[in-house]
Amino acid sequence: MTTLDQPAAPNADPAELQKFGALAHRWWDPQGDMRPLHEINPLRLDWIDRLASLAGKRVIDVGCGGGILAEAMAQRGARVTGIDLSPKPLRVAQLHALESGVTVDYREASAESMAAESPGAFDVVTCMEMLEHVPDPASTVAACSQLARPGGWVFFSTINRNPKSFLFAIVGAEYVLRLLPKGTHEYAKFIRPSELAAMARAAGLDLVEVLGLTYNPLTRRFALGRDTDVNYLVACRKPQ
Ligand code: SAH
Repeated sequence: MTTLDQPAAPNADPAELQKFGALAHRWWDPQGDMRPLHEINPLRLDWIDRLASLAGKRVIDVGCGGGILAEAMAQRGARVTGIDLSPKPLRVAQLHALESGVTVDYREASAESMAAESPGAFDVVTCMEMLEHVPDPASTVAACSQLARPGGWVFFSTINRNPKSFLFAIVGAEYVLRLLPKGTHEYAKFIRPSELAAMARAAGLDLVEVLGLTYNPLTRRFALGRDTDVNYLVACRKPQ
């Protein structure tokens, strides 16, 4: 969705990048603003690892933020590159990797620029909880597809768009349960699974699995399952 007055503008919303920059110092506090990312991390990590067997794989995590998933994938033996366009979370990610003794190659870059630089360079591409923050998610999906080698895996996660997701992901998570800071998500940017599937197919990817992610406010636990009404994950594969 490149506008005519900004032909070379990257596919990024400066207000979104700034928002994540302001949260950067609390990124690794498991009880802080990023608590949901910490809680869903083991679930998504196991799912990705089960499908794509991370050990020894070249992985790029697009929109890696403070590196919660990137580091965990490196700990499973993947060679991980993490990219983001918000400098502060990237710096936090770098410092945290040093403290953990884990090697991750963090870079300030967009999916599109990395795809132009290193097409087909990765066995696995992950792009989690990021598509709902970019102006043109189809462009990000296309770039993720370009980054994957033939036969490689591409994983996305985002939030569905319907009255229930408005109620759960915005009213519930931001205002009632206060799982996330107010203003984290914007309803209009949510993406239906059918829309993401269409973007993936247009980018030349085959859909392998769509999985729901639900939160139980009573047990305060997340779980993977069939219910894709609010949060969901998608696994795709690039044909050989
Ligand atoms: N993927 C991480 C972080 C999710 S938070 C995880 O799931 O743990 C969303 C991240 O996307 C933030 O770090 C934000 O800076 C980043 N982001 C938003 N727009 C971006 C863009 N256009 N290019 C790269 N990163 C972007």
